[in-house]
Amino acid sequence: MATVQTVLGPIDAADLGGTMSHVHLTIDILCWHMPYGDPALAKEAEGEFTLANVGRIRRNGLAWRRNLVQDDVELTIREVAEYARAGGRALVNVDLPGMGRDVRKLQRIARETGLHVIASTGWYIAACHPPEIAGRSVEELADIMVRELDEGIDGTGVRAGNIGEIGLSGMPQDPWQPAEEKVLRAAARAQARTGASLTIHPNAHLLIHGEKPVDHFDLYLDVLEREGCDLGKLYVSHLGLFPDVEIPKRLLRRGVGFVSYDHFGHEEYCEGIGPGRGFTPDKEEVGLVMQMIEAGHADRVLLGAEVGWKTCYKAHGGWGYSHVYENILPWLRACGATEAQIHRMMVENPRRLHGVG
Ligand SMILES: [Zn+2]
Ligand SMILES: [Zn+2]
Repeated sequence: MATVQTVLGPIDAADLGGTMSHVHLTIDILCWHMPYGDPALAKEAEGEFTLANVGRIRRNGLAWRRNLVQDDVELTIREVAEYARAGGRALVNVDLPGMGRDVRKLQRIARETGLHVIASTGWYIAACHPPEIAGRSVEELADIMVRELDEGIDGTGVRAGNIGEIGLSGMPQDPWQPAEEKVLRAAARAQARTGASLTIHPNAHLLIHGEKPVDHFDLYLDVLEREGCDLGKLYVSHLGLFPDVEIPKRLLRRGVGFVSYDHFGHEEYCEGIGPGRGFTPDKEEVGLVMQMIEAGHADRVLLGAEVGWKTCYKAHGGWGYSHVYENILPWLRACGATEAQIHRMMVENPRRLHGVG
């Protein structure tokens, strides 16, 4: 029997139910903070959210410090409960040390909502790495991850059930920061030793319209394979950022288990990086998913609303954790997706991915 390790203990993978494999239930991504150059705007961006400024926050989310931290667990519980009401059963939380992971809060969310919550191990992009990562070897980092998967996190006895999101940053010409390559190699070894699912956050460039995406996936996969990772247990996050489905098709041909379209609802811009830079709108991401379905890949696609920073929450003008069930699945059905294909993407694929044994 395959089992999935949740924050309240192992469950039969058959009981997992509808799952989003990439969410943040609390978050601290101050490592991404990019203040406005204009001092008056920078001062305003230290302030509270209001209806009058939420539009500006959505154009430049990285400039607003309060957008980058969401540690109000009561808010999470309220909004996650809506995901449960809409039909969801499980969430894979990919917060990691250095970006706000708190397994006690995850347990509380699971208890109060009745959802299966899965915690993760590993490290995100180098800017978020806790300082001790620098002095550790690949094998030492792999040992830490294996311990969190097999024994528990920070002495709590709460075991991780997933590895990642392993952060790979750098600009289009750079596949990673040196410390990120080390963590990627360690994550591959931890996957090989435990059989756990593993996800990577690629160095996705926030494209402007018409720009050709650059990717380093073959290099990432070479490293993972060399370190013994079972690519069938790998899911690559954020494929919505790549507007050409030949890229995910290439990943699947190389043996990657699943490609994740998880930015539904993330319709914000990051104009501190440049005009027009930002996340892919739902209209385009729905189109990409439909192309993957029509190419016969519904058995390799995951769907999700990566609620992360504050503007993703309904309370702050977003569409929340329930967005996929409430808005995206009806949209996919209207585009021609069948119930069997939707069941595959929401239930069967996560079960095969996260079930171990
Ligand atoms: Zn994420
Ligand atoms: Zn990410």
